[in-house]
Amino acid sequence: MKLVVGEQTDVGRAREEPNEDDKLVDDRMGLFAVADGMGGHQGGEVASSTAMEALRAAVAAGAPIRDAISRANEAVIERAAGDDRLRGMGTTMTAATLAAGGTLLIGHVGDSRAYLARDGTFTQITEDHSLVEEMVRGGELTAEQAEVHPQRNIVTRALGIEPAVAVELYPIELRNGDRVLLCSDGLTSMIRPDAIAAILRQETDPQAAAEKLVDAANAAGGQDNITVVVLDVVEGDPGPVAATRAADAAVVEPAAAPEAEVGAPSDEGGPTPRRERRRRFRGAGRVGRILLWVLPVVLVIALGFGAVGWYARRTYYVTIDDQRVTVFKGVPGGLLGWDPTLEQRTTLRANDLTEAERSDLDDEKRFSSREKAEDFVAVLRGKVRDREAESATTTTLPVPTAPPAAP
Ligand code: MN
Repeated sequence: MKLVVGEQTDVGRAREEPNEDDKLVDDRMGLFAVADGMGGHQGGEVASSTAMEALRAAVAAGAPIRDAISRANEAVIERAAGDDRLRGMGTTMTAATLAAGGTLLIGHVGDSRAYLARDGTFTQITEDHSLVEEMVRGGELTAEQAEVHPQRNIVTRALGIEPAVAVELYPIELRNGDRVLLCSDGLTSMIRPDAIAAILRQETDPQAAAEKLVDAANAAGGQDNITVVVLDVVEGDPGPVAATRAADAAVVEPAAAPEAEVGAPSDEGGPTPRRERRRRFRGAGRVGRILLWVLPVVLVIALGFGAVGWYARRTYYVTIDDQRVTVFKGVPGGLLGWDPTLEQRTTLRANDLTEAERSDLDDEKRFSSREKAEDFVAVLRGKVRDREAESATTTTLPVPTAPPAAP
């Protein structure tokens, strides 16, 4: 088994040079990668190329892919620390190494992607570290909404942001005929997966397929830099790859257990990526720095809103509504959208009340519990009843009545 590679990168139709994406194809080492840099003042371009160089050097030195990507992370941080204009730059990294035994091991950080085309199916291997993807996983957005979400290009994890980066690993047991696509979001934000799959089905030559994918993204608008690497698995001698990639064999073997799911992150042979992800706060990336302060602000607003809601909903008031003495739950007029709700419409009519009692209720009598509101109503009812009894007594007294007016 060996890999035949096609590759293409393009600045797109909407961006100025330089192209902030970078790609790496090294057949001899069995190393293939795409990186999508971000940051002002050439920062994006510097971040992606710095990461690629460090990745290549680390893999050449025998590092497993996870360590090599960590090394790339450190390299971007070091480079930014030496130049004020590069501060805050970062890059995605989706890198594949062909390890011993015909396993392709993909290390991944950010929102570039790896896909597998196999037997007519087309499967996304990597999970995006992006705001919208997290919202989709949390059930806040559908996949369709995510595709058009205005913040779909915000990444939540990238190289160059924090000294430690959680690298996701995805092993794929390659079979002859498989085609693996690595791409930056300049491709996937422009054309849908089914369109990508169709091009990969139609174009058998990997280089022609890579070029057609980039052409299609440009035809759809080319809003971003576009980078694709197409890896075809064919029969043949892989050369010295197996020996050089022994470093990843330790990671691959446990995950390559029977029925290992394609695309499932490796849960063995090192820190578990999923658990790592949950432990760590994911604040980094393109506009990720904004998330770092937006999230606390949102939290404070949510807490404040909750507190107001709690206050608004635990209060009761009594007033005249629809000519009846009525108990409401909530705050008169509502508070931040917490509208009062009618709790009880009593049989006491406004007409039964004295002028003083009515004006008292017009101002809304507030209570901290329903019992207290009901006590108030009971007292009011008592007064009304007393007055009725009084007036009933009064009416039994002989009352002089005026004689009917004579016509
Ligand atoms: Mn991009």
